[in-house]
Amino acid sequence: MIDLLIRDGTVVDGTGRAPYAADVAVENGKIVEVGQLPEAHARRVISARGKLVTPGFIDIHRHADLAAYRPGFGQPELRQGLTTIVNGNCGLSAAPIRRSRRAEIAAYLQPICGQMPASVSTDSLAAYFENQPDSPLHTGMLVGAGVLRAGAAGYALERLEEKHYKAIHKAMEQALGDGALGVSLGLGYAPECFYTTEELMRALSPLAGQSIPVTVHMRQEGGGVLEALEEMLTVARKLRIPVHISHLKAMGRDNWGVKIPRALSMLEQARQEGLEVGCDAYPYTAGSTQLIHILPPDLLTGGMEAVVKRLQDKGVRRELAARIEDGCGFDDIAKLAGWDGIRLTSLHCPEDHPYQGKSIAEIAALWGQNPLDCCCDLLVREHCEITMVDFMASEEDIVTILQSPLSNVISDATYPTEGLLHPRVYGTFVHILEHFVRERGVLTVEQAIHKMTQKPAEVLHLPGKGVLAAGMDADINVFAPEKLHQPGTYENPCCLAEGMDYVLVDGAVAVEKGKCTGVKAGRILRR
Ligand SMILES: [Zn+2]
Ligand SMILES: [Zn+2]
Repeated sequence: MIDLLIRDGTVVDGTGRAPYAADVAVENGKIVEVGQLPEAHARRVISARGKLVTPGFIDIHRHADLAAYRPGFGQPELRQGLTTIVNGNCGLSAAPIRRSRRAEIAAYLQPICGQMPASVSTDSLAAYFENQPDSPLHTGMLVGAGVLRAGAAGYALERLEEKHYKAIHKAMEQALGDGALGVSLGLGYAPECFYTTEELMRALSPLAGQSIPVTVHMRQEGGGVLEALEEMLTVARKLRIPVHISHLKAMGRDNWGVKIPRALSMLEQARQEGLEVGCDAYPYTAGSTQLIHILPPDLLTGGMEAVVKRLQDKGVRRELAARIEDGCGFDDIAKLAGWDGIRLTSLHCPEDHPYQGKSIAEIAALWGQNPLDCCCDLLVREHCEITMVDFMASEEDIVTILQSPLSNVISDATYPTEGLLHPRVYGTFVHILEHFVRERGVLTVEQAIHKMTQKPAEVLHLPGKGVLAAGMDADINVFAPEKLHQPGTYENPCCLAEGMDYVLVDGAVAVEKGKCTGVKAGRILRR
């Protein structure tokens, strides 16, 4: 007698192979058999007639480092079929954080990861894992190279010394020893934006020749995206390391349809040379980040006090206006998205709360001001703590990336503790199946499932994950694809996805008849 049998379903096994009819037998948290099993007896039988049976979905790019410590964590994830998530992306991880800099780094992480509770252990990745509450789904961590650098040298120092590199190397090796699945880079953000390519390679030198994955939020994602990609291919070639481009996109109308095909062919060519490279994308035309990232990186030096002071200076504002107009040398989001394409999602001061959900263009019109002054005034009085969603990408570029064999699906979900979330937090994986497969038909269901299961498992070398086959972990979804729906919108993002009938995590039923059961069978995945 086996533990559980999923009978009469249509299996989409994660490899990209066409769907086929089969039963699935589960025992001791593992898949033991897939095929026609009319004789099988099980303690529990789930009928999957008319439904798909797939591996649990894997999101290798979330920012739930601190959310994983919050009570009730996991519902938005499970309801869209996620059974494995990986945090610590974009150079930002909640551990390891040097104790003397914890307050400073926690403040920096806050808009992305939310408030840092005292219960989170950040001294080492081992301590972080040790105290992480039980979770209903599997979680893993990358170690953020930005946090390592900030721990060694803070956010203001531009040129590092020998002792700083030593400290970075030591902390990186320790985090990898503690079970980090790889290293994440955030070259678009301080302090990593200060690295030259040579310095970056020096910081990453302990990884040379090893198969430890490096994921990267590149230096630029607009007009300079191809140069930024070339830089990462150079790093991959010289250090002989796997490099995975996070949330590939080309921001700004002028770049749409032009840069992405070129970027994919550069990756293709590197792949032919034998480099382990690839990319991922989130399926939304808006991103979400801090409003200060409309500024050129050199204006972000010296910490927030210094930035606030600068933005009050009329001369600086005049110069900034010219640089935004010119748009050279940095991701000029104000120009690429337009002031009407930047909507504010969180503001602290009570008098600014009415502006949540409004665009800078709308607020400027209300104030009778030009948009740049309006934006700078808001940043000054909010002490730069404002987040936005910025509409800067093209859906056709997203389709081009999704159709490439080199890509997998991610969410880039961020978990701020105030303001509006991006709908991708609750919706990404159902949105792919509902919109890109069912409504637009730009991917087959087996292609889409592959990009949400086996492909991401390969990128981060996750054994036992991503394929529905005998011997693999019993992370399994059962659903009718025509019933899937994600109701979230930019105005009302926190809506649970609908239509995922059963979600199994290591063979335990985490979602039953569309509702979370509260079972916490998730493990921490260590390298
Ligand atoms: Zn990023
Ligand atoms: Zn990210």
